[in-house]
Amino acid sequence: MTPTPNLTGSRDRWSGRAPKRMAAGRACIERGCTTKLSTYNRRDTCFLHSPVRFPRIRGRITAGTHPVPTSQ
Ligand SMILES: [Zn+2]
Repeated sequence: MTPTPNLTGSRDRWSGRAPKRMAAGRACIERGCTTKLSTYNRRDTCFLHSPVRFPRIRGRITAGTHPVPTSQ
């Protein structure tokens, strides 16, 4: 029974701090999306369905108004 010599000083600082890992094998919660999420992904959605996504510009895609330079 020799006491471990290396345990002096700082207490184990990793105790109680589990690595931020989610359950394995999760899939995106978006309907119809079957993208598997990484265990390190803390979101419930895949990259495509994450909220960071830019919002779609609604109704203002004026068809016919192409940015064609009218050179006269
Ligand atoms: Zn998704």
